[in-house]
Amino acid sequence: MDRLRNCIRNIPDFPKPGIQFKDITPLVRDPAMLRLAVHQLIHPFLGERLTAVAGMEARGFIFGALAAWELGLGFVPLRKPGKLPYDVQALSYDLEYGSASLEVHVDAVNRGDRVLLVDDLIATGGTAAASCALIEKLGAEVAGCAFVVELDGLGGRARLARHAFHSLLRY
Ligand code: AMP
Repeated sequence: MDRLRNCIRNIPDFPKPGIQFKDITPLVRDPAMLRLAVHQLIHPFLGERLTAVAGMEARGFIFGALAAWELGLGFVPLRKPGKLPYDVQALSYDLEYGSASLEVHVDAVNRGDRVLLVDDLIATGGTAAASCALIEKLGAEVAGCAFVVELDGLGGRARLARHAFHSLLRY
């Protein structure tokens, strides 16, 4: 895990003063570290019945799609407003820096689906909680949530207390 941690670059005051931005691009640029991160992300869920992986735009697409590939599942993109072309379910939420909305295609998951949610980082948990709510609005179940980076002390883990929770690196 130290090797993974060494691949996370801290950028102070990005995108706003006071934010310590955790840059995952050195990690995804390194083939061995990318593979390790994806394997570690899915490891606790290998015995679970899963039917899809969902990831949040944009960095959740990288880890989510690779996790789906490794699990032999399909991928569901949760996107910023106005990007998805078909009918959507939408939800607004608060971020560590600002507020935002996420959308998902109404037919992306259904009742009976068990979805693993994946993102690069959890801070306040607003994005992940909104993502869980979107998946549940469509009648599917959130089987677990997995993150490469967890920022401690912002309440993200507690907000997802209803779900199986996994993070690789805590800061
Ligand atoms: P939150 O909704 O507060 O848990 O924020 C998580 C989302 O915002 C994730 O999609 C992250 O990619 C992004 N994010 C929030 N804070 C940071 C940070 N300090 N460094 C990098 N990404 C962040």
